[in-house]
Amino acid sequence: MKLSAKTQLCCLIGHPVSHSLSPTMHNAAFEALGLDICYLAFDVPPASLSLAMEGLRALGAIGMSVTIPHKQSVRNFIDELDGDALLVGAVNCLAKRGPGWVGYNTDVRGFLVALEEVLETSISGMSAVVLGAGGAARAVAVSLGRAGASRVSVINRAGERAKLLVDGLQPHLEGTTFQAFAWDQAECGDALATADLLINATPLGMSAVAGSEAWTESLLTFQKLALTRLPAHTVFYDLIYAPERTPFMELALASGHSAHNGLGMLLHQGAESFRLWTRRDAPISIMRAAMASDGTS
Ligand code: NAP
Repeated sequence: MKLSAKTQLCCLIGHPVSHSLSPTMHNAAFEALGLDICYLAFDVPPASLSLAMEGLRALGAIGMSVTIPHKQSVRNFIDELDGDALLVGAVNCLAKRGPGWVGYNTDVRGFLVALEEVLETSISGMSAVVLGAGGAARAVAVSLGRAGASRVSVINRAGERAKLLVDGLQPHLEGTTFQAFAWDQAECGDALATADLLINATPLGMSAVAGSEAWTESLLTFQKLALTRLPAHTVFYDLIYAPERTPFMELALASGHSAHNGLGMLLHQGAESFRLWTRRDAPISIMRAAMASDGTS
């Protein structure tokens, strides 16, 4: 990659960011299309967010990816919010429009494209169970609703958070029936018994998360129970992609279910962000190959 005095800046802000594959993916894409743009990852602790946003505005950055823990708080620095970002209540991509930032949620489209890619079919009419009720689970639930899933059941450790999520989405996505359950609620067994899709949208099992082993244990306990109710055809999709074969996937594969990690979602949310920054279609196969050859993948 050749940098010049005219090179423009896109970046990732989050905390931590050292595990991220986004610089690899985006720099490969900029280079392939001959765009004079570079992508850097900045580790920004919450207390420095305001300063970082001011600095990036002053320096003329043209695009930004946003990850944990800034997906909600970054809204305070945005001039306009796209519809999906409003519905999800979280922003993972910023694009410069004139002097201001527009905030988007490209996880919604990224998840849908990735899921339909591995399923090789539309998810319209399917019944899905989502584990977790945080920002990623919300994006997944919006995505499933937009794609015409017949039912989306959100199962979370804190049942009231799952309820808040579905109550917020149901009026906007009337074609889908949303349900909320706590992990220890017996009724969630009925949702599991008819699930075509089981999606892990918790960070449990993620190698970058400290104390992940203990968390994984709690997730596995729940999932082992879940397995006794799931149909044989249920497809597992884990939003986590490091490790490449996650504990959630191990469990699926051991019981004969098919399973996928979240690398495809990362790729396709990145491709959508790339399109918003450059107004060009992303070179998907080049981005995918760059991530695959990255030592951290
Ligand atoms: P978040 O907002 O912090 O939500 C975390 C969720 O996990 C909450 O529902 C929380 O339940 C649950 N949880 C956390 N610790 C738990 C534990 N010990 N036992 C049971 N449940 C627990 O996080 P997020 O932003 O939604 O992200 C979730 C995951 O998705 C992360 O691993 C992130 O890296 C991944 N992700 C991947 C992609 C991709 O492109 N592949 C995109 C976005 C996110 P409570 O509500 O009960 O606390």
